[in-house]
Amino acid sequence: MGDPKGFMTVPRKEAGYRPAKERIYDYGEVEQTLNEKDRQLQASRCMDCGIPFCHWGCPVNSKIPEWQDALYRGRKDEAYYILHSTNSFPEITGRVCPAPCEKSCVLAIHEESVTIRENECATVEQAFEAGIIKPNPPQIRTGKKVAVVGSGPAGLSAADLLNRAGHSVTVFEKNDAIGGLLRYGIPDFKLNKGVIDRRLEIFVDEGIIFKTNVKVGEDISRDDLLLEFDAVVLAVGAEQPRNLPVEGRDLDGVHYAMDFLTMQNKTLAGQSFSDVEHISAKDKRVLVIGCGDTGSDCVGTSIRQRAKSVTQIEILPKPPETRPDNNPWPYWPNTMRTSSSHQEGCERRWSLSTKRFIGENGKLKQAEIIEVEWSKDENGRWVMNEVPGSNEMIDVELVLLAMGFTQPVQAGLLDALGVEYDPRGNVKADDNKQTSVKKIFAAGDVEKGASLVVHAIEAGKVAARNVDAFLRDVDN
Ligand SMILES: Cc1cc2nc3c(=O)[nH]c(=O)nc-3n(C[C@H](O)[C@H](O)[C@H](O)COP(=O)(O)OP(=O)(O)OC[C@H]3O[C@@H](n4cnc5c(N)ncnc54)[C@H](O)[C@@H]3O)c2cc1C
Ligand code: SF4
Repeated sequence: MGDPKGFMTVPRKEAGYRPAKERIYDYGEVEQTLNEKDRQLQASRCMDCGIPFCHWGCPVNSKIPEWQDALYRGRKDEAYYILHSTNSFPEITGRVCPAPCEKSCVLAIHEESVTIRENECATVEQAFEAGIIKPNPPQIRTGKKVAVVGSGPAGLSAADLLNRAGHSVTVFEKNDAIGGLLRYGIPDFKLNKGVIDRRLEIFVDEGIIFKTNVKVGEDISRDDLLLEFDAVVLAVGAEQPRNLPVEGRDLDGVHYAMDFLTMQNKTLAGQSFSDVEHISAKDKRVLVIGCGDTGSDCVGTSIRQRAKSVTQIEILPKPPETRPDNNPWPYWPNTMRTSSSHQEGCERRWSLSTKRFIGENGKLKQAEIIEVEWSKDENGRWVMNEVPGSNEMIDVELVLLAMGFTQPVQAGLLDALGVEYDPRGNVKADDNKQTSVKKIFAAGDVEKGASLVVHAIEAGKVAARNVDAFLRDVDN
C-alpha cells in the first residue's frame, strides 16, 4: 500500500468533464485528465484491503490494489503490466466502463471510493507516452488457425489472447472498420477512435490478420469457414434492436438509435451521406425513448448536432438517488445515473409509455405518451398500468428508439451454423463458451445478451482460454 493514511488525508478528486458550454461544440472526448502528481495522490487512497471487494466487483478481475500501489510509487511499467495482465484494453475500460469496481470499493461504505477507472486510464496513457507499450509477437506459432467473427471488444479480446498463445488468428468484420460498437456505437466524445486504432496497429504488428467488409455467412460460406479454420469464435454481438410497433412507427422521422449514432460516427470518420439517407437532429425537437447508455449517447449527439430541444423518456420509474435497503454495498447500485450528455441540457422523464406517433404527409409531427404505474401481481411479477386520462401530445420531429437489443441476428450465419439458442434467443454457450457445435465458441453480447464492454472483454478471455485448450487437445 502506497500511503497507509492516504484514504484519511487525501479527498477523492476527479478530473471532471470539459465545461458543457465548450464541449457541445465538438466531438472531442469530454473527460479531462489529472496531472501526474494528483494521480499518484489518488492512487494513495487505496487501502490495500485484505479482501479487495473492488477486485470482486471488476468483471475482468483487475488487480486493483497492486497496480494502484505501483502507480503511487511511479513505477509506470509495473502498473501497466499488472493492469494489462487481466485486460487487453485498459485504455478503453478506463474511458467507458461504468466501474462496478468503484461501487464495491470498501471506502464506498462510508466515504467516496478510490478513483479506479480514471487511474486505470491514466496508467495506460502514461505507459503509451513512455513508450512502454510495444508489439510483442509470439516467438512460436502452433500452426493452428482460428477465425474470430466480429471485431467488438469480445472478438478483439479473444483474438489478442489466442494470437499471444501462438495461434494464427483472422478477425472477420462485416463493417468497413474494426471495433464493433466501440467504433460505430459509442460516440467519439466518450471514446476517441484513435484510441482503438493505436491498439489495432500493435495487433497487426503482432500478426493478427483483420478482414473488413466481410460478412461471414454471405461472403464466406459456413462450409468454407469450418474447412479453413481449426476453431471459430463467434463474437457477432446482439444486433437486433427492440422495436416499438405502435401506430406511426413507419413515419419519416422515427429511427433506431443505432442508425443515428452509426451515421454520426461514420461522418466523423470522413464518410458522407446523401440528404435522403442522413438522419439529423439539427433544428429538431428530439424525443429519445430509452434511458440506457444508448439513449444517453443519442442525447449528447443530438445536442452536438444542434437539436432545438431534447427530451428523454423511460417506461420505468425514476431510480432512487441513494441505495435502497434491498440493494446494499458491494452490489451494483440501481440508483439514478446522470451522464455528461444529460448535463449538457435535456429534459428527462420517467414512467411514460409511448402510445403512437402522429404525422402529416408521412412526416413525424407528434408523439402521444401516457403515464404508467408499476405494481406487483399476486405472483410477485411487475405489472404496468396506464394512468387513465394522463395522455399527453408532444411536438417532435425526430424520435430515436433506444430501448435496447433483444438478441443476436439469427438469420444468416448463426442459423447456418446450426448453433443452439437459449430461451432469450442468444447463442447457447456453456461456462467454457463452447456452443452446441464442436469447434465453435461464442463470446460477448451474442451469448450474454446486450451488456457492457468489460463483460465482452472477459467473455473473450474465457473463450480464448478454452479455444486454446481445445486446439492443444490431441484428440480434437
Ligand atoms: C450506443 C451504445 C453505447 C454503449 N456505451 C457503453 C459504455 O459506455 N460502456 C460500456 O461498458 N458498454 C457500452 N455499450 C455496450 C457495449 O458496447 C457492448 O456490450 C459491447 O460492445 C459488446 O461487445 P461484442 O464484442 O460482444 O459485440 P459488438 O461490439 O456488437 O461487436 C460485434 C461485431 O460483430 C460484427 N458482425 C456481426 N455479424 C457479423 C458477420 N456475420 N460477419 C462479420 N462480422 C459480423 C458486427 O458488425 C460488430 O462489429 C454501449 C452500447 C451501445 C449500443
Ligand atoms: S475494467 Fe471497469 S470494473 Fe474493472 S477496474 Fe477498470 S473500471 Fe473497474
